[in-house]
Amino acid sequence: MIITIDGPAGSGKSATAELLAQRLNIPHLDTGAMYRAVALKALQNGISEANPDQNRIAQLAEHIDLDFDWSTHPARILLDKCDVSNDIRKPEVTAIVHLPADNKIVRAELVRQQRLIAAHAGSLVTEGRDQGTLVFPDADYKFYLDADIKERTRRRLAELTDKGIAADPDALLADMQARDQRDKSRGVGALLLAGDAIVLDTTALTLPQVVDAMVKIIGSRKNG
Ligand code: C5P
Repeated sequence: MIITIDGPAGSGKSATAELLAQRLNIPHLDTGAMYRAVALKALQNGISEANPDQNRIAQLAEHIDLDFDWSTHPARILLDKCDVSNDIRKPEVTAIVHLPADNKIVRAELVRQQRLIAAHAGSLVTEGRDQGTLVFPDADYKFYLDADIKERTRRRLAELTDKGIAADPDALLADMQARDQRDKSRGVGALLLAGDAIVLDTTALTLPQVVDAMVKIIGSRKNG
């Protein structure tokens, strides 16, 4: 059973996917973490906004050693055998993640890896931007999470504050708008609403409420 969850930054995808996967006792794949790991590898190799060498980024992605440790919740992501689960969330990685995300060769390689992971796992909750549209068009269940941009910004601020990272709310809102724009206008792998996806607006919902709604939908279709 493949369940896809797509949506913009801050819509609650990761937390929802993690909890849903736990409830169903299947693995959770955070595909954003894969793009972030390529961005981290790029940073380690001198790539920056001032030196956005897309050929080099593609080369790095094609030879990348990426792995997940599914034995913990949430799963840990390993780059060159090192646990980089925390490092990939750093602002300097977030700032350049659009470089690998916009790169067609990187996307092709990561999509290939995502399909391999799914084939190996059998059942998976996978979240990102293009999971229900491009990567798994035949998924059993497709969800699209959305939320008001102010609420999404508030959530991102809370996440950063929790990690002890200071952030300016206005700058964060502007960053969220820029990410939305980039995610929706990307030539390949853009954030689009799949025609057969179920849309859930999470603005006024708690995490358990969103997951309950999903479990109910999955249960009713299975029994229907
Ligand atoms: O979900 P998260 O914010 O961690 O994703 C990091 C970046 O990777 C996003 O800015 C998004 O543009 C990109 N991404 C993507 N396709 C995916 C998942 C994430 O382009 N399937």
